Amino acid sequence: MNNNGPFHLSPKQLDIWNNISRQLHTASEIDLFLDYDGTITPIRSTPAEAVLEPETVHVLQQLIQLPHLKVTMVTGRSMADIQKLVLFKNIGFVANHGFHVLQDGKEWRHPEAERFIKKLRKLYTILQGAFQPFPKSFLEDKQFTLSIHYRNVSVQEQTAFKAIARKTIYEFDSRLVLTEGKEVLEVRPPVDWGKGRAVMEILSAQQHSPRSLQMYIGDDITDEDAFQVLQSSGITIHVGNTADTQAHYYVNDVDEVLQILKMIIRLQTHRSNHHPT
Ligand SMILES: [Mg+2]
Repeated sequence: MNNNGPFHLSPKQLDIWNNISRQLHTASEIDLFLDYDGTITPIRSTPAEAVLEPETVHVLQQLIQLPHLKVTMVTGRSMADIQKLVLFKNIGFVANHGFHVLQDGKEWRHPEAERFIKKLRKLYTILQGAFQPFPKSFLEDKQFTLSIHYRNVSVQEQTAFKAIARKTIYEFDSRLVLTEGKEVLEVRPPVDWGKGRAVMEILSAQQHSPRSLQMYIGDDITDEDAFQVLQSSGITIHVGNTADTQAHYYVNDVDEVLQILKMIIRLQTHRSNHHPT
């Protein structure tokens, strides 16, 4: 963790902005990892409402067309879900916090996690019953994991709600792992894996030139292990200003993420025009 917290990556912080621009400009290839919710689209009250703005779609489209840049979406959502929201085919997807990967046309599922799919299906039904007193809670089946959304449950009821969730889950199978995100509980198989490990796998499967550069932008606790993996070699950016992150930089919101993406497009387009390949 940075003792002083991350630096603000903004055109107003000229030194930092220029330093990043230079790194992007001189990189022979760029691996750009983008989280979805809270990073390229604001968090909404239900996951289904978090659709991309037309401007963001346009920016992504331009990014994808850049010759030396590869975009990978990294999300806690299921593969089916994220592919409904991000309609581009020629990008990589890391879904379900890394349990399900689609990269260069190859699909990979974590074999140990896969063995828990049936069990989670059963737990889903049990939780539906347990959550009946909380109609504003929302249970999401993501195949490899379950998400329990409680942002619409009243603040007074949230503690009781979480206690019921915990009790139900651990009584069902004490091996299951429960993690907490932004007003969401995640039920995961007991497999030591995450976005960071999946990113590492992807990078190690690729041929890299010494001048290749990785950039990762994310907003959630689940992005922290990816920040850690890329800490010495990559540009890591947390969405939201907090000292409680391992990212080197932060931006304030989704709009500032778009600003960075547009900077990449400008720099790389400029480069392609001057160094035709
Ligand atoms: Mg997120």
